[in-house]
Amino acid sequence: MFEIHVREEFAAAHYLPGHSGPCANLHGHTWVVEVTIRSGGLRDGMVIDFIDVKAILRELLPDHSLLNDIIQNPTAENMAHYFYSGLKPKIPGVYRVTVWESSRSGATYFED
Ligand SMILES: [Zn+2]
Repeated sequence: MFEIHVREEFAAAHYLPGHSGPCANLHGHTWVVEVTIRSGGLRDGMVIDFIDVKAILRELLPDHSLLNDIIQNPTAENMAHYFYSGLKPKIPGVYRVTVWESSRSGATYFED
């Protein structure tokens, strides 16, 4: 089994309605989205071309947006699920998506 990882970043704002902490207020992050793709075999020595994954991922990233307009309750967890759902039809081998809101805090979605 092989895994490849592609990481991209984008800047966007969000707020978490009803949250008891400071994240209830509008604020922004430079988000990092990491996609992991699994394959049991290789084609031309690759799982999939990194360039193709980056292009598909970039199309999905809501750069310079208010995430609440796109994702209901845009926590890192809900964003990981949102990106996974968007990538899965385009890249069948997508295994896992992790969304980092800082270098120390992130959430992952994958199908059990
Ligand atoms: Zn935040």
